[in-house]
Amino acid sequence: MRIFDQLAARRPWAEDERLVLDQLQRLADEVIAPAAADHDRTGDFPWPSIEALNALGMNAMFVPEAYGGAPMSYRLYLECVAVISEACASTGIIYATNFHGMKPLIDFGTEEQKQRLLPCIAEGGLASLAITEEHAGSDATGMRTRFTPDGEDIVVDGAKIFISSGDVADRLLLFGKWSEIDDARAAISALVLEKGTPGFEVVRLESKLGHKASSTAALRFDGCRVPRANLLGAPGDGLSILLSSLNKSRPSVACHALGITRAAFRDMVAYMNERSQSGRKIVEFQGNQFMLADLATDLAMLEAWIDYVAALVDGGSDDFGLEASMAKLRASDLAMRMTTEAVQMHGGYGYCNDYRVERLMRDAKITQIWEGTNQVHRQLIGRSFHDK
Ligand SMILES: Cc1cc2nc3c(=O)[nH]c(=O)nc-3n(C[C@H](O)[C@H](O)[C@H](O)COP(=O)(O)OP(=O)(O)OC[C@H]3O[C@@H](n4cnc5c(N)ncnc54)[C@H](O)[C@@H]3O)c2cc1C
Repeated sequence: MRIFDQLAARRPWAEDERLVLDQLQRLADEVIAPAAADHDRTGDFPWPSIEALNALGMNAMFVPEAYGGAPMSYRLYLECVAVISEACASTGIIYATNFHGMKPLIDFGTEEQKQRLLPCIAEGGLASLAITEEHAGSDATGMRTRFTPDGEDIVVDGAKIFISSGDVADRLLLFGKWSEIDDARAAISALVLEKGTPGFEVVRLESKLGHKASSTAALRFDGCRVPRANLLGAPGDGLSILLSSLNKSRPSVACHALGITRAAFRDMVAYMNERSQSGRKIVEFQGNQFMLADLATDLAMLEAWIDYVAALVDGGSDDFGLEASMAKLRASDLAMRMTTEAVQMHGGYGYCNDYRVERLMRDAKITQIWEGTNQVHRQLIGRSFHDK
């Protein structure tokens, strides 16, 4: 691991950022990682891990000070997602989903909305981002959830599926179509739905291949009355809010995949240095060394790319959509390759759940599917070269 220790030591962090990372790493090692296999086995929501993160004030990192937060750089936030996800991918995505759900409110909400809705999140509340519907996955413009204005309220009718933390969230950032606008794209609007709103129902929790401790909920909204004061922007602003928010959540899911990748690489290298066959450690076989060389190089490049994208965001750029797509695409493909090779290098033991690599491989798969499938990201990147 020498090269990665060297790269990690050379990454520049301010003193207060190092302090956060050191404290978080300790918590990841002592609380989150030791509980991960159990949470995976039982499927129980990892409350102790979430509570430990809240005791460190991790949500406050991305909430502005005026609303109870203690904001730090986006780059630090991304690294925190990777550290938590390396310890437990389920806990990592629950933490990151708080950011994904609340960032649109931070970026597009009014002063009054932020004063009212954000302090609960800064204190450790959970958030969800609810876009996907049964008939509207990759093409979100096909969503059918309806927002009908009625006096001081908006009446929400419809359903969402696959919503991370949808059953436990204190705040849901919900997308739907404004009933008075006919155009499929122009009608998309966004509002914040608060926990306990009558008419909101959790229909079921999905049983999944991986991320078993992160809940994935199907939700129904039946005449759900949300104060009009919770609408983000104007009716019809939803699509631009959605696209802008995804640009910041995609590097975040890339870092979640990066955490899984780091865990798999670490476990694979350790095992290859331990296991012997034909009188030699399996790391001594040249074919295996070539595989390690390729994966290690891709991992190092990915880490550098993520720092590059983070610097764009921290520098105030608002034009980094393709860079974000590249990060998501490369990180998730690498997570799948790395975890698959890690299982392979563990031989039959890798297929059994005594070793963590089996869970890592199951956890890696969804990273190629959510936040825009990798086909969609290839399309976004590829079509940017089409001269019109
Ligand atoms: C565990 C989990 C957690 C999730 N969390 C959330 C969440 O918190 N919030 C939320 O809103 N959603 C969430 N999702 C939903 C996720 O983002 C969608 O599943 C994803 O966007 C794909 O949509 P779909 O499943 O409807 O697949 P589809 O869009 O039906 O795609 C099916 C296949 O067709 C391919 N395809 C589709 N369109 C194209 C195209 N134009 N070109 C080429 N290929 C294409 C896809 O790549 C895919 O391989 C979650 C899903 C899961 C499983």
